[in-house]
Amino acid sequence: MLSDMYETHAYDVLVVGAGGSGLRAAIAAAEGGASVGLVCKSLLGKAHTVMAEGGVAAALGNVDPEDDWRVHFKDTMRGGQFINNWRMVELLAKEAPERVDELERWGALFDRMPDGRINQRPFGAHTYRRLCHVGDRTGLELIRTLQYKAIHCGIGVHMEVTLTRLLLDDGRAAGAFGYYREDGRFVVFKAKVIVLATGGFGRVYNVTSNSWECTGDGIALAYEAGAQLMDMEMVQFHPTGMVWPPGVRGILVTEAVRGDGGILLNAKGERFMERYDPVKKDLSSRDVTSRAIFLEVQAGRGTPHEGVYLDITHRGPEFIKKRLPGMYHQFLRLADVDITKQPMEVGPTIHYAMGGVRVAAETAATNVPGLYAAGELACGVHGANRLGGNALADLLVFGKRAGEAAAAYARDGSAGRIDEHECDVEAARLLAPFEREGGENPYVLQEELQSAMGDHCGIRRNELQLSAGLGRVQELRERSKRVSVRGSRLFNAGWHTTFDFGNMLTVCEAIVRCAIERRESRGAQWREDYPNKDEALGKVNLIAYNDGGQIHVTTAPILAMPAELASLFEEEAADVGRRA
Ligand SMILES: Cc1cc2nc3c(=O)[nH]c(=O)nc-3n(C[C@H](O)[C@H](O)[C@H](O)COP(=O)(O)OP(=O)(O)OC[C@H]3O[C@@H](n4cnc5c(N)ncnc54)[C@H](O)[C@@H]3O)c2cc1C
Repeated sequence: MLSDMYETHAYDVLVVGAGGSGLRAAIAAAEGGASVGLVCKSLLGKAHTVMAEGGVAAALGNVDPEDDWRVHFKDTMRGGQFINNWRMVELLAKEAPERVDELERWGALFDRMPDGRINQRPFGAHTYRRLCHVGDRTGLELIRTLQYKAIHCGIGVHMEVTLTRLLLDDGRAAGAFGYYREDGRFVVFKAKVIVLATGGFGRVYNVTSNSWECTGDGIALAYEAGAQLMDMEMVQFHPTGMVWPPGVRGILVTEAVRGDGGILLNAKGERFMERYDPVKKDLSSRDVTSRAIFLEVQAGRGTPHEGVYLDITHRGPEFIKKRLPGMYHQFLRLADVDITKQPMEVGPTIHYAMGGVRVAAETAATNVPGLYAAGELACGVHGANRLGGNALADLLVFGKRAGEAAAAYARDGSAGRIDEHECDVEAARLLAPFEREGGENPYVLQEELQSAMGDHCGIRRNELQLSAGLGRVQELRERSKRVSVRGSRLFNAGWHTTFDFGNMLTVCEAIVRCAIERRESRGAQWREDYPNKDEALGKVNLIAYNDGGQIHVTTAPILAMPAELASLFEEEAADVGRRA
């Protein structure tokens, strides 16, 4: 009997991930009448979402009354270079305000304007001041509120459990297999439907703002189960990560610093962004700003630690300590820099995955029956470049939609059958590294992969480097077959890394293969050998899929935007024409 072999739990809806999207999905599924189980790799409250800083984008129009969903829609489509799924962007822009109000009804408290309404700060490439925030610690308030709500919806919580395989019954999601990180005990979850909300994969690079658990597990699990991946080449470099001292390289310096008036200067003291974006200057979009910083450093105008300066001293100590307390303490503690008196040294850091699991716009359903995906893991809202604040809006809007759709699916569906043999095979796969002597070291392999991605698939790409990068990934995949670990399953971080590494290989191969295929420069994809946009490639998304264990890449046409949405851009063009 399965339950004799493995600890087993059964739910209508299994949510994998306790970040903003997982918690929002669990709440919606529970409110939809389903029994809900939530599994997370870390402790509740420790998901990556808690690190979010600058705010959540929603067209409330509190600070700029002219703002509304149409402008938010246009900004997001333009920021994504029009390869976004326009229906998802429409839903995001229309529903984000209600999701923010709902959070307040659930106990969140955003910063206020003098008249008591929610305050909104400016952010890169947003036409109006749109980001609702709590100082520069918005993620903490979001997670605190959602967690409190979710717990009181009576969901079952399984913390510090890593899921390693989705279990299918005749191609339909039926459950998942995993282990407790504490002691390595195996556990099986049966479920009528699964919502994957496992976040991003920034850890596949060596300089990143992402937390330790962002290794792309959900991407690999979904891919192995037959789900399509989309736009995997679109990886966001945030322009302002810390660069010094070495131990903190990559930690995020929120865009709120630029939003609140911070200016970028090269080592010669020049406000160089005027040369790269004469209109938006320091508040240009992340892809343009990261490339500008990269080029300034390449041209020898960088700071001693290969960055640029970000200066906000002119706003004065009181303003800085009130609006950016996190940044003030972060630089004081980690770099011994008082940002009320000195500029910060910053440079590009891997920050967000625009690519991910392909989903249906309305329901967040994947192409695998019974499998849904939401949050950073899913793909479609952000296209070729995400605007700041839209990730938190995304996980609230589509977390809810995924949870509702999953509950509806569970209502109509029955539980699939779990194949015990498949569980045994998975258990044996996970234990194999203990049975090998003197093999490859998982930490060494992981470091080599992260460096290879930084060297071959970084901010500036070309065919030669990418092909060499693919070769490195395939060589590391071969070596991973000989990985060995010592000791027991108890708190064995080396064993955990072995599993993470397998997922990272899948993610990296999909990124590199898609980056090779998209022979153009668009948003976060910068090909120095194809510096311009390609019209044909602007009409497709790249789809990576599993064919007999091999990653293949093809294209899927982007559906034409309906006239009423397309006309928003024509009107603007006409306005611009009229004003010219
Ligand atoms: C420093 C920083 C600041 C940011 N600031 C902002 C901001 O101001 N505004 C904005 O819009 N966006 C911001 N972002 C981006 C945004 O925070 C993330 O994209 C978003 O929080 C991702 O949420 P999520 O719910 O998709 O996943 P996460 O919050 O990453 O949660 C993933 C969950 O999945 C679990 N998990 C993963 N793998 C497994 C597995 N194998 N088995 C079981 N569980 C698993 C994890 O334990 C975790 O609970 C920021 C990102 C960073 C890094």
